[in-house]
Parts: sequence; structure tokens; C-alpha cells
Amino acid sequence: MAPLVVLVLKLRRLGRAALPLLAAIALGAVVVASTASPLPLLLEAPASALLLGLLAARASKRGRAIEGTLRLDLEVGALLTVLVYAIVTRSDGALDGRLYPLVYVCVGLVSAFARPVATVLVLAFALGLDASVRRWAMASSSYERLIYSGAFMIVFASFNALLLRAEIARARSALKERIQAEVEKLRDDARSYRLLGAPAGARSASRGNDEERLVRSGVEEIHQSVLFALRLLRQAMNLHTAVLLWQNDAGTHLRISELSTDDPNVAEGPFLAGDGIFGAAITQREAVALRGLEPRHKLPYYTGPCPVRAALALPVFEHGAIRGVLVLDRLTDEPFGLKEQELAEEACRYAVRAIQNERVFVQLERAKVEQGRLYRAVESLNAATTEAEVVEAGLRTAREITSVDFAAVTLYDEAQKAHEIRAVSGGDEANLVGQQYKKNAGLVSMALENKHPLPYRGEYDEKRQIVFTKKLAPPSMPSMIVLPMLVHDKPLGTLVLGSRRRAAFGDAARSTLEVLTSHVAVSLANARMMRRLEEMATLDGMTGLYNKRAMLEIADQKIKAAKRFGRKLSVLVTDIDHFKKVNDTYGHDAGDVIIKGLGEVLRRERRATDAIARFGGEEFVVICEETDARGAMLLAERVREELGKTIFHAPKPGPDGQPVTIRVTCSIGVASFGESGETWEDLFKAADEALYASKRGGRNRSTAHASLPRAAGSKAQHAA
Ligand code: GH3
Ligand code: MG
Ligand code: MG
Repeated sequence: MAPLVVLVLKLRRLGRAALPLLAAIALGAVVVASTASPLPLLLEAPASALLLGLLAARASKRGRAIEGTLRLDLEVGALLTVLVYAIVTRSDGALDGRLYPLVYVCVGLVSAFARPVATVLVLAFALGLDASVRRWAMASSSYERLIYSGAFMIVFASFNALLLRAEIARARSALKERIQAEVEKLRDDARSYRLLGAPAGARSASRGNDEERLVRSGVEEIHQSVLFALRLLRQAMNLHTAVLLWQNDAGTHLRISELSTDDPNVAEGPFLAGDGIFGAAITQREAVALRGLEPRHKLPYYTGPCPVRAALALPVFEHGAIRGVLVLDRLTDEPFGLKEQELAEEACRYAVRAIQNERVFVQLERAKVEQGRLYRAVESLNAATTEAEVVEAGLRTAREITSVDFAAVTLYDEAQKAHEIRAVSGGDEANLVGQQYKKNAGLVSMALENKHPLPYRGEYDEKRQIVFTKKLAPPSMPSMIVLPMLVHDKPLGTLVLGSRRRAAFGDAARSTLEVLTSHVAVSLANARMMRRLEEMATLDGMTGLYNKRAMLEIADQKIKAAKRFGRKLSVLVTDIDHFKKVNDTYGHDAGDVIIKGLGEVLRRERRATDAIARFGGEEFVVICEETDARGAMLLAERVREELGKTIFHAPKPGPDGQPVTIRVTCSIGVASFGESGETWEDLFKAADEALYASKRGGRNRSTAHASLPRAAGSKAQHAA
């Protein structure tokens, strides 16, 4: 777009945005002018219509917004101010008349809905308008009245704003308190029914919610069952009130757990456990019946005069301990008979059973949730096939199963007696991961040594206890547990978990974590076994180089690539000279040392892209990519020379007790892709022929197949 067009568009947008405010200022000027000398109707009518229309439009937009923008607040405030000044000046003909207090009302109103900054700006606008009317319309040069009414406006606006905001804050905090109280009551109920454990600190949010929902539904179920029993009792025994009260943990107070009554004057409680009829039933541990009650008598659960004539209180037992009191009363002075008492006792037992059932249900639900989590954890552990994946999955699942704030996995190298911190989550990852340390008196070492989780009950004191080492410490937390990973009693490592909650690793959490840890351990052992199996299938046990089977696969791929991309490729075959003699003279073990030694030499001399295999016995094959016969011969010579220089030591000393040193040489054959063949079979055969040429030529030499007399005229043999 042309810059001019952009500018015009921008100006238009700006103009449209500023329009209501500009209009307010212009209309303010009209108010000043019309106060000085009345305007003709032809001018005044459209000005009024514009003012009312604009104000209605902006105010309705402000009404729809939950919280207006500064500009919108300012527009509504300014237009409203102009309207008020128009009304005041129109009807009083000047300021400070009968209707002038409308200005204060207007300022107060603005401060109630507008943001503080907008209120201040509107106030300034009102003062400006006020001053203009006084100066130009009323020709007053004294500022006294202006200062006076300005002060009033400020007082009005600030009082209003302060009061309103204070009121909103108060209402908000009252609402929050009420919600908190409801939640607390629910928790108390759950706790008194033993659905919940002791109050715990912050749990992880989602798990906390699940638990809360579970407990809430448990409490609701109990309420429903018990309320139903109380209603039945009331009808069957013609009662005025039937109320079940439940003791708090300490046994000092009773709270109404369920109530069925028509009486409006029942007290909310809680009540002292020793109060009146409650105390009597609790201390006597049997039913207490009262008769001939008068209004002047006092029953603790009624606020006013006693409305009933007869009452019966029964202690509620669970496993022989008093847990609450059931109180029944009626308006008539009709004694509670034996049958009725039995029925009431049955109701008490019913209530206790309902609570017990619910407790079992909540525990089962909890166990189910836990099982589900464990199941998913095991699934993701099973899916992990490498050691790194298992470590990662172990860390993740531990975090999912319990709400831990710190988790780490250490692995133990039994041969080195050393620990390595493999993975960390929720701690100083950069400084901990990859750190190794020797077996020490730390919790990780001790837990592995004792094959038992440490510290006892997961209570950790960082001043006295060390987790890894003094220098390598997890973040400071009151709960920490080190779970040893063992498979067939073999220590593999540990799972270290920490929590900011106190007593986070109590018995309940521990058993689940131990199950998880043993799953991690088994998965780790499996991953290691898989890796070994894989290595066994592809690597030679003595040298760690490829075996023949793996090499044939590699050769196949490399030859295909050489064909497709026209790359160079060479094959070396090595064979130790007179190796039978070495075995015969120094023994098979000494021979093995030499085979390993040649493996090392090859490994040292090759390039990263070269593949080496032990093809059997003391023969090795090297496949070199991007290498022609000349390059391959250079490598062959380096290997041959290196081996020739190497002094081997026999594992056993000689008959004279002196250490035995051995030196050997090798012969090598080289063949290159293209010159000597295009298939593996041809290439290998060619290299083998070259090798035997080396042997025939006197050993300790390298021969290129292409240089053999049949292939080319000259001899390209290198001998020491
Ligand atoms: P040449 O110079 O002609 O190669 O003579 P050589 O004695 O080395 O003959 P050859 O390569 O045919 O002999 C291979 C010998 O290597 C046979 C066997 O005793 C020995 N050998 C094969 N595998 C092993 C092994 O795993 N360990 C040991 N110590 N010796 C092995
Ligand atoms: Mg051989
Ligand atoms: Mg040999």
C-alpha cells in the first residue's frame, strides 16, 4: 500500500477512536457557550441529541464489558459529566444553584465504576468544565468557589472508590472463607469416619483432587444411609428429633453427623463430649433415658427452651470403643420402651456398619487407583528395551505413582564398586547426572548393601545423613527414600525419591514403591540381557570385534553401496604366521593373548568407517570404504609393522620362573572392488589368494591381489 494511503487509514482509525472524547470536549464547549447566551434551538437540539446518543452508546458498551478499558471509562465519565453540567446550567442558569450537588453525585458515580486513572482524568475534566463555565459564562474571576467545589468532588470520588473497593474485597474474602469452611467440614467428616488419613500437606494437584472427590462421595454415601435410618426411626417411634453425633479424633467434642428434625432451634455444635445427656451416655457406656422434661430443662442440642418431654441417648460403639452418641426425643412424655431401645441400638449398629462399609469402599477404590497406576507403570517399563529407556521410564513412573518432588536413578558397577547417577528429575540435573563415586557410607551404598530401603520410614535428616556423597546432594527435603534395585539378590542400582511433604514415604506408599522398584530392576536386567544377546549374536567373544555372521551382512551392504555410488572398497585378510607353533610352544592361553593383541592393533590402525571382524582362528578381515588397493596396502603395512613390533607376554611364567615374551608376525592379502571382483565371494577369494601369495613369498608381508602375476605382470609385495 502507498505510504499516503496507510497514513490516511491510520489517521482515520485514530480519529474514530478519539471521536467520543473529542465530542465530549466539544459538547462541553457548547455547554459553556449556551450558559453565556442561550443557543438557538436549531443548534441546541442536535447537540443534545448527539450528547445523549453518544452517552447511551458508550454506556451500553461499558455495561456489557466486565471490566472496561481505560478509554471506555474515560469516555462514559466525560460524556456523563457534560450531561450533568448541561442539566445544571440549563435549570439553574449558573453553577452553585439548587441542582449543583448533581455534579458530586456524578463524580461519585464515575469513581464507582471507572478505573482509578480514568476517575482522576474525569475529575480533571469536570474541574476544567467547571472553571470554564465560571470564567467565561459567569464572568467570575474568583477561584474560591471553584476550589471549594473541586475539593468536594475529590472527597466524594475518593470516599466512594475506597468504600466500594473495601466492600468488594470484604465480600470476596467472606466468600472464600465460606468455601474453605465447607471444605474443612467435609474433611472433618471424612476424618471422623476414618476415610482420610492424618492431615497431609500439599499433595500433587490432580491426585489431591481425585482423593478429594473419592472422599466426598464416601461422605455423601454415609450421610444418605444414616439419614435414611434416622428418618425411619422418627416415623417408627413418633420422634421429634433423631440426631447422630460423632466424636472428633481426640474424643473431646461431638459434631452433628446426621439430623432428622422439624425443630428450627437445633444448635449447630460442636458440643463438649461431657455435656449433659451426651456426657451421661458416654461415661456410663449405656443408654440414658430422660422423662418428664420441662422447658426450663436444658438439652445441649437445642438453643432455646427444651421443646421435648422425653429423650434417649445411646453411645455408639465401634470395636468396643465409643465413637459417637445417638439421641432421640419426643414431644410427649411417653417413656422409651425396651423394644424401642433395641431398635435404636440396631440403628446405631447400622450407622457404624455404613461407615465401615464406606471405609472399605474408599480403601478399595484407592487400591484400584493405585493398581491402575502401577499397571500403566509396568506397561511403560515393559516397552523400554534399552538401559537408557528403562532408567527414563523408571523415573517417570515413580513420579506418576507418588507425588515426589525429586527422583533419581543410580546404577551400580559391581566390578568397580562404583555408583553412577544416571538420571535426575526435580533436582540439580546438570551437576548430578553422570557423576560417579565409589562405594561409601551414603544411603545409596548402604541401601544396596543391606538390600533394604533407607532411611527408616523415609524420614531424612540432611544434617546427619548423606544420600550420594557429601558434595553430591539432592535438594533439601524432609522425606527421602532410597529403594535398592535387586534382581536375584544382585544389586543393580537404586531409585531415590524425595518429597517436600513430611512422612511422604510411610508404609502405605512404600509397599507400592517397592513393587515399582522391583519392576524397574527386572526391566533393567532384561534390557542388559537383550543387549548382551545382541552383542553375542554380532560380536566375537574374544576380541569384541564383529563375528563372521555380522561381517557378511556388513560386507553385503558395503558392496551394494560401492556398486550404486561407484565408491572404492578394499578387503584385507590377515593370518598370523606359524601360529600353531606359538600354541605348541607357549600354550593355547598365550595364543589367545596374541589373537586379542592383533585385534587391538587392527582396532588402533583402522579408520572409523572400516569394519573389522575375526573370521575364525587367528584370521581377521577388514573392509575399508573409500579405499583403493594402494590405500589398503598402506593400512596392511601399518598393521603388519605394528604387530611385528609388539611384544606379548605369556600369561604364565616359563620353567625358569621368568616372564615369557613372544613376538609374532602376520601375512596379509588385499583385494579391491572392481579390479579383483564385484561380489563378496570374489573379493574374499581374491584377498585370500593374495594372503597365500604372502605366505608363499616368505610370510610377514602384504600382497595386493591385483599385483599377482596372473592379474598383472609386476610383484607388489612388501616384506620386512
Ligand atoms: P601359517 O603361517 O601357514 O598360517 O601357519 P599357522 O600355524 O598359523 O597355520 P594356520 O593359520 O592354518 O593355523 C591356525 C592355528 O591357529 C590352528 C589353531 O591351533 C590355532 N587357533 C585357531 N583358533 C585359535 C584360538 O582361538 N586360540 C588359539 N590359541 N589358537 C587358535
Ligand atoms: Mg590360519
Ligand atoms: Mg596362520
